[in-house]
Amino acid sequence: MSETCEILVVGGGVAGLTATAAFADAGRRVTCVERAAPGAAAADTRTTAFLRPAVDLLTEIGVWPLLAGESAPLETMRLIDAGGRENRARETGDFHAEEVGEPPFGWNVANAAIRRALEERLAALPSAQVMNGAALDALTLRRDVAIARLSTGEVVRAKLVIGADGRDSRVRALSRIGARRWGYGQKALVCVVSHGRPHEAVSTEIHRVGGPFTLVPMADGPDPDGTPGPRSSVVWMERTAEADRLAALDDAAFEAALNERSLGILGRLRPVTARATWPIAGLIAHRLTAPRVALIAEAAHVVPPIGAQGLNMSLGDIAALVAATGEGEPGAPSALARYQRRWPELAARVAGIDALNRAAMTGAQPIRDLRRFGLGALIRVPPARRLAMRLGLGLR
Ligand SMILES: Cc1cc2nc3c(=O)[nH]c(=O)nc-3n(C[C@H](O)[C@H](O)[C@H](O)COP(=O)(O)OP(=O)(O)OC[C@H]3O[C@@H](n4cnc5c(N)ncnc54)[C@H](O)[C@@H]3O)c2cc1C
Repeated sequence: MSETCEILVVGGGVAGLTATAAFADAGRRVTCVERAAPGAAAADTRTTAFLRPAVDLLTEIGVWPLLAGESAPLETMRLIDAGGRENRARETGDFHAEEVGEPPFGWNVANAAIRRALEERLAALPSAQVMNGAALDALTLRRDVAIARLSTGEVVRAKLVIGADGRDSRVRALSRIGARRWGYGQKALVCVVSHGRPHEAVSTEIHRVGGPFTLVPMADGPDPDGTPGPRSSVVWMERTAEADRLAALDDAAFEAALNERSLGILGRLRPVTARATWPIAGLIAHRLTAPRVALIAEAAHVVPPIGAQGLNMSLGDIAALVAATGEGEPGAPSALARYQRRWPELAARVAGIDALNRAAMTGAQPIRDLRRFGLGALIRVPPARRLAMRLGLGLR
């Protein structure tokens, strides 16, 4: 069977589904192919902190209103340095949203809720079609069309193929776009916790060794006994061996480790979901485009999950690609050239997050002390403080 569409999106993760909704909302005929079966992403217990530019895009395409009541506002970012010889806070800095604009900074939402909202919106967009259980196998790129062969035997002809197929992107490989990739020997351990004290819309990042331990506010929900109350999501970055050790602890030992690392700032933390670990990597594609191809999201860039950047950058890609395409033909050389102009900004952001992550991982006491000094300067020097906040929020 052969099919023709304007845009073929390869990969139905959050980025691919958002791209599908954004282009279909703009009136384009879009097909999204996802190799996994429906429901395969249900085990994703992560949350995403959406910053303002990402929320603006999700609002424009009718997805954000479907998340009412499921997001928690983030009004303050608190950085705590606990990198001394003892496990206690030795420097604390609060960054308030009103210092750089209108509060809040952003909103935290469970990935499962985002996927549900995207699926609901896509079902209401007649020009969008999502095919599960269909992987891209081969791609022929011509001057005026891309021809994709799927694992189902189907052939799809499209004016533009969007590679949203993640860090091991087949679209990237088949269009011969190289990439630089590296590892950190680090994993993020993720779970949702209930806690005794309210989070007061403060997202807290505690630095010691191995990587930051972050508590991101969530909407209230039941604790392990079923009593409603405050909840946060934990992103705990550690060297791989330590993350694997923590993930393998029995429940009581894990809860004790969690409470020690959190310094007790929110009272007693109790896990309400299973733990999961995610390997941390970095990647930047050499280009964002090839003839009739545009890469977005983790197919183009992968960063460690610090400062809520990954998916926010990806939604920035989608907004940039929609703007570059305008009313013209998707995949036209001029549109792809406009989209390619985003590359230097992405490369700089990947490099900045890489440097931050390496500083956060360090175990060497002199560098930990330097980090404390850097945090102190960031907190007390107003221009440095505002610049760091604007960069962190994806603002120019
Ligand atoms: C612990 C953690 C916390 C994070 N927190 C945040 C946060 O707070 N804020 C933020 O902005 N970002 C955050 N991120 C980053 C964010 O989660 C990722 O950027 C995002 O999940 C990646 O989405 P994606 O759609 O690019 O890739 P993926 O989710 O990997 O999706 C790619 C999809 O393509 C499919 N696929 C692959 N190959 C093919 C093929 N050949 N044919 C068809 N389909 C294919 C795959 O099955 C998959 O579904 C976090 C990341 C981690 C690890």
